[in-house]
Amino acid sequence: TKFVSLYAVAMTTIFGKIARGEMEADLVYEDEQCVAFRDINPQAPTHIQIIPRKEIPKVTDLTEEDESLVGHLLRVAKKIATQEGLEDFRLVINNGAGAGQSVFHLHVHLLGGRPLSWPPG
Ligand code: AMP
Repeated sequence: TKFVSLYAVAMTTIFGKIARGEMEADLVYEDEQCVAFRDINPQAPTHIQIIPRKEIPKVTDLTEEDESLVGHLLRVAKKIATQEGLEDFRLVINNGAGAGQSVFHLHVHLLGGRPLSWPPG
């Protein structure tokens, strides 16, 4: 119905559009469950976003049914890190604006290709 489609538009984000192929991105991987693409404002020589096709805003919205999906995202991250020639790398998921989340579609940052200090800012 009209209501449902308006709701879907209101809920979507730039990453939802990339996942549906409605917006261009520098894709490095995709399968039925997820899409991965290079960050537009890279913070390291390799900076890739791994996102589920499913529109989950953030970690605190995950449910039991998402358990295998989250495991899949990490396995894909590992595969891409290997493809990128990275032995050492960092995976980051920001949850909430106060933690630096700016796009409210769950995403795993894959960062590598330079020394990464700890703790992060
Ligand atoms: P976060 O701050 O954890 O929500 O991360 C959002 C990330 O998405 C940032 O690193 C942005 O540079 C990146 N980003 C925003 N828009 C795009 C886009 N259109 N294509 C690729 N990366 C993007």
